[in-house]
Amino acid sequence: MRVKSAGLLMLLSLLFGTFPLALAGQAGPQRTMIVMGGGTIDVRLPDSSMALSRAELLHWVRAAATAVTHYYGHYPVAHVTLRIRSFEGSGVRHGVTFPWHGGTIMIHVGTETTVAELKRDWMLTHEMVHLAFPSMADNHHWIEEGIATYVEPIARAEVDEYPVSSVWRQFVRDMPQGEPAPGDMGLDRTSTWGRTYWGGAMFCLLADVQIREQTHNRMGLQDALRAIVNHGGVISQDWTIEKALATGDRATGTHVLENLYGKMRDKPVNVDLDQLWKQLGVETNGHSVSFQNSVPDAATRMAITPPRG
Ligand SMILES: [Zn+2]
Repeated sequence: MRVKSAGLLMLLSLLFGTFPLALAGQAGPQRTMIVMGGGTIDVRLPDSSMALSRAELLHWVRAAATAVTHYYGHYPVAHVTLRIRSFEGSGVRHGVTFPWHGGTIMIHVGTETTVAELKRDWMLTHEMVHLAFPSMADNHHWIEEGIATYVEPIARAEVDEYPVSSVWRQFVRDMPQGEPAPGDMGLDRTSTWGRTYWGGAMFCLLADVQIREQTHNRMGLQDALRAIVNHGGVISQDWTIEKALATGDRATGTHVLENLYGKMRDKPVNVDLDQLWKQLGVETNGHSVSFQNSVPDAATRMAITPPRG
């Protein structure tokens, strides 16, 4: 999740019992710096006693940072504050990323959380992906969440933290939540959860496929997103969506992002996802997924998620 409005922040503070405005604390024994991909992650560990060791928590932070560094070619921001807070219980919850101080992430880890649960966690990677895109006006929140939702599993798969088959199983299962419901007025004007997260992710998937088709797999959405970061488009910067998409399109030598946005911004656009999975050679049967490599667009799928050896 990505937050910048003060009102929402107050609400989150009440809900989670945390006070992110007091983030800039003093250095202490619970503070550690991780340097990764040209960025510094200023980690503030929880004060309370945890089932996880400090080393295990830091390993989790490094794994997420490695995935994001690999996807973007470097860590997207020079400095991020990562405040890990604890709650009584198990799991990882309530990740939020703010544009302050060059990027600030707050995430909650349960006192009983296990290493296996950290290994399954996607949330910290999702939050770190938020660092790698400029801040948008509220009606474009869908692209901020869509990119984080789409890139997170792919970035983790690229560094062997998540199986490629699980990426596609998740897309097939969850992407339909991004389809417009009756009364939808397009991505810019429909702020439901489904349209924000999975509608945004569907925009990214369509863009990725189209860029790869038009460039014969020389380029993909990854190249567009890297270019945006390399032109300074990170969370601390306010950009228009037009500037971000034009920057991405220039990098791939296409107009895919601008054209898709023109189509989807103010109108409901249904996507024939079943046809798209068929085209990409993705077949699911219950919980299992298999890949058809003889279909014409199998190469596109393999460019999005290169098979791991
Ligand atoms: Zn998010």
